Amino acid sequence: MNDQSPASILERQRLAFLRDGPPDLTQRRATLKRLAHAVKASADELAGAICADFGHRSRHETLMAEIFPVLAAVRHARFHLWRWMRPRLVWPGLELAPSRGRIVQQPLGVVGVVSPWNYPAQLALAPLVAALAAGNRVMIKPSELTPRTAETLADMLGGLFSADEVALVQGGPEVGAAFCRLPFDHLLFTGSTPVGRKVLAATADNLTPTTLELGGKSPCVIAPEADLAEAAASIASGKLMNAGQTCIAPDYVLLPAGAQHSFAQHFAETVNKLFPSLLANPDYTSIINDHHYARLAQMIDEARQTGAKVIVLDPAQENPPPQSRKLAPTLIVDPGENLSVMREEIFGPVLPVVGYESFEAALDFVNARPRPLALYYFGREDQNLQKLLTRTHSGGVTVNETLSHFIAENLPFGGVGPSGMGAYHGEAGFRAFSHAKPVLLQSRFNSRILLRPPYGKVSEAILRVLLRG
Ligand code: NAD
Repeated sequence: MNDQSPASILERQRLAFLRDGPPDLTQRRATLKRLAHAVKASADELAGAICADFGHRSRHETLMAEIFPVLAAVRHARFHLWRWMRPRLVWPGLELAPSRGRIVQQPLGVVGVVSPWNYPAQLALAPLVAALAAGNRVMIKPSELTPRTAETLADMLGGLFSADEVALVQGGPEVGAAFCRLPFDHLLFTGSTPVGRKVLAATADNLTPTTLELGGKSPCVIAPEADLAEAAASIASGKLMNAGQTCIAPDYVLLPAGAQHSFAQHFAETVNKLFPSLLANPDYTSIINDHHYARLAQMIDEARQTGAKVIVLDPAQENPPPQSRKLAPTLIVDPGENLSVMREEIFGPVLPVVGYESFEAALDFVNARPRPLALYYFGREDQNLQKLLTRTHSGGVTVNETLSHFIAENLPFGGVGPSGMGAYHGEAGFRAFSHAKPVLLQSRFNSRILLRPPYGKVSEAILRVLLRG
């Protein structure tokens, strides 16, 4: 019987990688196609497993936000892979003439992937697509909070790949910590910023190149001239997808002081349209577990106790009980900056709405906080938009909509600073899991011999050219 420890799987994957060499374009395209077929065939099973793991998860949200992005990533990679893999010829420069240079994309070997619970299929499979496109072997450690999804993924991948190609390792934080200490050729971690810190410390010992896809508080900035109704509708639909349990969900809103009431009205109207009821509504997703439900309820209570205006949007007046874990969309108007709802990533359907006195003050507010994963801007004036883009940092930006930049395979996706390091999706993913190896090919006529000792007049003449200003 084979040793099934993660360390031993890694060893076998590494040996298989060295034995078989990198897969060529045809093999990679075929592998990706097989994966896409399996994901499509397992879509309903995955939707069922995710729904059971969450208590309730909208089937449409699963198809839109878990299955579609993976299939889109495969389509994109299969189409562009030949171009990404092609060695790039470069001129090494006059000093090295007449040698030739090229940059070769080489798979790194074995890639480790650690994924979270909030989109448990997509965040395990999208890094897998990128790593396979780049020609690697892959080990995945999914979240322990979505065990049925992890089991379904294990069955699906087990039917497609041998364990020395793709393997799934199950377990909680201890297994995750041990997993990150393995000497992978690259590790991609998706999860919270506090755990990301531990992961980077764990990968430091082996100097494992690490991509961190983390979280944070993603602001929405509404410019003075913006259409408030349009902004509120877009923010509501982005916020309430997966009941706010999205890494790039709008976390809080900054809008011109005095517009809070009007924004709240538009937001409530949108909620009435999107979710006329909550409790038995198949479109409205539950909070993942009691711990996170209690955490969110506490955030709301804390805000209420300090006198912030709390608006609970429960269109059918159902007052969903805690055991349903369906938390009604809740606005918190002008909460104090020290409240947990303004300090911690919310990760639920709770939205603080904060008034600003000037557009510059809104930018200062963003800059006074850790750099977020996403930033949303609503407005039609180019001047304000340019100011926002040049004076604030965030992993990515969508203008006049929420969430959309995540879906564009041609845009790299990742954070900056505390919201992450590195990026993937599309070509960025291929590059994250490849080594861009520079190769210099010396010609028969080798000018370097003119610079070998004993140094004399020729080398001095050449040095004069090399050291020119
Ligand atoms: P988490 O950090 O608690 O867990 C993520 C994964 O890490 C899980 O598989 C877990 O078992 C594992 N883990 C836990 N402790 C570990 C340790 N010490 N060492 C190694 N691995 C460990 O995150 P979560 O609660 O599952 O997910 C929510 C967070 O993820 C939010 O902060 C959200 O913003 C973020 N997120 C980011 C993205 C992104 O693409 N940037 C996407 C989704 C979620």
